[in-house]
Amino acid sequence: MEDKSRQQNPLAELAEHARFLAGLTELGAPHVALGAPASAAVAVSEAPADGAAPLTAIRADLGDCQRCRLAGGRRTIVFGQGNPNAELMFVGEAPGADEDEQGLAFVGRAGQLLTDIIEKGLKMPRPQVYIANIIKCRPPGNRNPEPDEVLTCVPFLERQIEAIRPKVLVGLGKFAAQWLCKTATPITRLRGQLSAYRDIPVMPTYHPAYLLRNPLAKKDVWEDMKVVLDLLRRT
Ligand code: URA
Repeated sequence: MEDKSRQQNPLAELAEHARFLAGLTELGAPHVALGAPASAAVAVSEAPADGAAPLTAIRADLGDCQRCRLAGGRRTIVFGQGNPNAELMFVGEAPGADEDEQGLAFVGRAGQLLTDIIEKGLKMPRPQVYIANIIKCRPPGNRNPEPDEVLTCVPFLERQIEAIRPKVLVGLGKFAAQWLCKTATPITRLRGQLSAYRDIPVMPTYHPAYLLRNPLAKKDVWEDMKVVLDLLRRT
């Protein structure tokens, strides 16, 4: 969750961002590039016909995860939910209080707005898509995820994406968009620019929590969703 004080202070936001990237690099993260979004699409292995069984196996591997410090403060692991064979997959940042309570991604106020984007904007029932986050446990006080927490958790998300094989991915907000696009470009510049995660098109866009604070930005997200709809129709 991006906190308000940082958002209102561009220098603090920049410093936080630099710290995050330095942390990722120190930890030996692959693909962290300062610059334009990755455009090269790298082929991944053939999709299984049905994502349901692999997703069940991934959830089982995750178990009662104690791999990082977030385990101590969480109530529930928020694995992600939706259609195991979804053509469209949304990736957010991290569970908040409501998600931690219910064990489901995007069920609070930001989740309601995401539902509107999907159901009123894209005209799809929400259960038709799949929704997950970069990290699966709520950070204390909704602080931003730390680099080591991201690196520990994302292998499970990678496997989920591989299992579902969506036609299009939508990265919601800075953390998801930058991780999917393997770039450090700020979300304000990333949004609306189609990129790729392996061989899957990625549309980076604003996080619904940001839209709650900046409703005027909804028009940008709508522009991005029109591109997503077009991609889904064409593929
Ligand atoms: N914000 C997120 O990024 N993910 C959620 O699941 C809820 C709020």
